[in-house]
Amino acid sequence: MSFNTDVVIPDPATGQGVYRQHAREWLQANLPDHMRSDSLNYRTPTLQESVDWETALYKAGLAGMTWPKEYGGYGLSLREHLAVNKEIGALPMPESVGSIGKELAGPIIMAVGTEEQKREFLPAILSMREHWCQGFSEPEAGSDLASLRTRAVQEGDRWVINGQKIWTSGAAKARYCLLLTRTGTVADRHRGLLMFAVPMDTPGIRVVPIKSIDGKESFAEVFFDNVTVPDTARLGAPNEGWNAAIRVLSIERATNRMYRPWRFEGELKQLVRACKSDPELSKLLQESYYQRRIGQIACEVDGLKGLIEKVVDQLMAGETIGAQGSLNKLYWSECHQAFAGLAMEMVSHVHEGSSELAKRAKAHFTNAYLFARAETLYAGVTEVQLDIIAQRIMNLPKESQS
Ligand SMILES: Cc1cc2nc3c(=O)[nH]c(=O)nc-3n(C[C@H](O)[C@H](O)[C@H](O)COP(=O)(O)OP(=O)(O)OC[C@H]3O[C@@H](n4cnc5c(N)ncnc54)[C@H](O)[C@@H]3O)c2cc1C
Repeated sequence: MSFNTDVVIPDPATGQGVYRQHAREWLQANLPDHMRSDSLNYRTPTLQESVDWETALYKAGLAGMTWPKEYGGYGLSLREHLAVNKEIGALPMPESVGSIGKELAGPIIMAVGTEEQKREFLPAILSMREHWCQGFSEPEAGSDLASLRTRAVQEGDRWVINGQKIWTSGAAKARYCLLLTRTGTVADRHRGLLMFAVPMDTPGIRVVPIKSIDGKESFAEVFFDNVTVPDTARLGAPNEGWNAAIRVLSIERATNRMYRPWRFEGELKQLVRACKSDPELSKLLQESYYQRRIGQIACEVDGLKGLIEKVVDQLMAGETIGAQGSLNKLYWSECHQAFAGLAMEMVSHVHEGSSELAKRAKAHFTNAYLFARAETLYAGVTEVQLDIIAQRIMNLPKESQS
């Protein structure tokens, strides 16, 4: 695949919407037809095809917008990031294979990393040379992350790590793991946690893929058996791991994959288009039962756009997002899960004789439906988000344990 990366990146100061127009024109001209999930020529991209695509996006000025120029970024603001995300969301393109690096590891390295770490890791993330995974969850520490047990013990200028992570997305292809460990005892809870950038080829690391309901092996168990790393692999000071982890989770909940509502809107239109292309499915569109549910989703998608714009305004004004991240996370996960349920119900009417577009929609929305089951789990389960909203936004007391 070849892409036009010989482009002039516009100066946002030249006028409102210039950057967004650049994004729209470049994406429309370069997104290969076989990567569009609504195309009859669609096929699942290989990892290399996804890497090539995202490398081209970066070279065209459509990734790393907010990162400083000295670390490979474009030194722009969240406004340009949002503008680009609206256009990325508007097209049915594959999900990023580098988002853990670009949206989680990169920002936390920028916040707590040393100058050497920033220069080493950040440009390699943006240019898609190195993938990252996020090693937070453990078998007994998911929602209750502060009970994690993976131990890091300092021996001179090295750390020896022992323990196990689970549900680690992209672990098999990752070059580095953003690893959260414990230096104290489990009773210390959120005190005594420490974050590392651990090379995944360090002796003692074993990755065991987990197959999910959609047949993919996109996450894994990761075992650490006397894994020894130098002190330079430490991200931030000892005891500051919890604050760093909370920052990562806040990004994951509020600003990661900012394109979501525009993508959901596109999927909703794809569903309607596919139904219209088929005589049997188009009858569903005349039923008030489906019309109301489609109307409800359209309304929720619009609300989600507003929440994203609000977060960008807050961050641009120098405010922190805090518990607002939980509100956004709850909203996008519940909204998309409800939509995927509706889509699945409608495409279940597709059969051998249905239109080709309807069959394509069935394949796409079956996958979306299965993955949507995970959306109310990863980045924090729904119940926990509800508690955070009640206690930290509405200032209600914590439930008494008696
Ligand atoms: C697709 C996918 C990708 C993931 N990728 C990663 C990754 O890359 N890195 C990583 O570190 N982790 C990852 N995770 C793990 C994810 O963060 C955890 O699944 C999540 O935090 C929930 O933890 P758990 O699975 O241990 O479930 P638990 O915490 O055991 O929760 C199970 C259920 O118990 C209930 N529950 C839990 N706590 C409460 C509460 N306080 N109040 C009421 N009910 C509650 C809820 O119904 C919840 O659904 C991924 C998960 C998925 C599904």
